[in-house]
Amino acid sequence: MMAVSFSAAGSATRPDAVVVGAGLIGAAAVLGLVEAGLRVSWVAPAGTEASPAAPGWDSRIYAVSPGSIEWLSAVGAWQGVDGARTCDVTAMQVSGDDGHSGIGFDTRDARRPRLAAICESSNLARALERAVAARAHAVTRMSDPIVDLRIGERTASVTLSGGATLRTPLVVAADGAGSTVRERAGIAVERHDYGHTAVVANFRCSVPHHGVARQWFFGDAVLALLPLPGGLRSMVWSCADTHAAWLLGLPLEALADEVARVAGGEAGSMQALAPAAGFPLRLQRVSQLVGPRVALVGDAAHTVHPLAGQGMNLGFGDCRALSAVLSTRGPQSDPGDLGLLRRYQRARAEPIAAMRFATDGLFRLFSSTLPGAARLRNLGMGWVDRTPLLKRELMAAAMA
Ligand SMILES: Cc1cc2nc3c(=O)[nH]c(=O)nc-3n(C[C@H](O)[C@H](O)[C@H](O)COP(=O)(O)OP(=O)(O)OC[C@H]3O[C@@H](n4cnc5c(N)ncnc54)[C@H](O)[C@@H]3O)c2cc1C
Repeated sequence: MMAVSFSAAGSATRPDAVVVGAGLIGAAAVLGLVEAGLRVSWVAPAGTEASPAAPGWDSRIYAVSPGSIEWLSAVGAWQGVDGARTCDVTAMQVSGDDGHSGIGFDTRDARRPRLAAICESSNLARALERAVAARAHAVTRMSDPIVDLRIGERTASVTLSGGATLRTPLVVAADGAGSTVRERAGIAVERHDYGHTAVVANFRCSVPHHGVARQWFFGDAVLALLPLPGGLRSMVWSCADTHAAWLLGLPLEALADEVARVAGGEAGSMQALAPAAGFPLRLQRVSQLVGPRVALVGDAAHTVHPLAGQGMNLGFGDCRALSAVLSTRGPQSDPGDLGLLRRYQRARAEPIAAMRFATDGLFRLFSSTLPGAARLRNLGMGWVDRTPLLKRELMAAAMA
């Protein structure tokens, strides 16, 4: 076992909490718990997220909501993001599959300076890791993966692959969709494979984007082109597995031509910067967000279709809510108290259910081949576009 301790003071063998997972949500959870006054051991196998800045562009790109940016700033992480590699979204144009219906959103409707910031995963991960390192007095990082979890009445025991055992009153699972912690804690998960894959790649385009994110619904496929600095655009094309396999097999030039064609020339001619990558898509719903001495956050707690670009934002919301609940406990009280954890579960029930309903509902509506479904959804888009109050409500939810 290798323990990389940020400081001797942080090397407690009985931390107030153990956070499992080196992803963006794991790092954010650590910051949230430290903000709530806890000493944390972070089980974060090395070499996962925060690779050094690459000469090119990371194909994992996220739309980070204003609400997430606000919280990440409050915990001292957003300040470390390299702003020269992010791009503000100032407008969004969503098009239906009849060629003329659609919805447009912009910063005037939202009354905010941006609808989202587009940021590479590695850029955000580096900023989060720097913010964690700045809290060395309260954090110990362990680089071995977790292999076992035992839940006792007063403590949980986390065993790492190197044989070390950490005893703690609270384990926070940020170990992703296939969470070992969730499985060992006996929390049931319901999975639905969409039979779809998201194909992602970055392109240089001949037509400038002016900060506009574009999305096209084509039946059950969704193509999004998100703005990046320097006139680049990042693509997320969610489509049936067979179609995705075909796209992933195309030579780079042919892929760029295909994307340019399907985008109706809106981005002009396109040139792929690097090979595309594919991510299989599934919906996951857990039976409960907490159990004795365990709380789930991020993809360990929920996975949603990326058509709204909200899975990670939902995870940051989990970290923020858990931090807020733990901040209200008394100085001597048990951070793993089930009553306290249930308050976290109640706080997250509605935002998670609403996002699942919206993303899954939209996916199903656009996949439907029932007679009249296409006309209905395109009419619906036009109606939302002409109803400012409803549009504002939709935007408020997406920007939280
Ligand atoms: C194509 C696509 C586009 C997306 N775009 C957006 C977007 O624009 N905006 C948005 O908000 N969301 C977006 N999402 C969703 C987002 O990617 C996820 O919600 C987010 O990455 C989840 O992060 P996580 O840290 O919870 O999980 P992960 O990123 O899966 O991290 C889990 C971590 O746990 C570690 N781990 C696993 N097992 C163990 C173990 N046994 N011991 C220790 N560690 C372990 C892993 O190594 C990993 O580091 C998108 C998703 C896809 C597929």
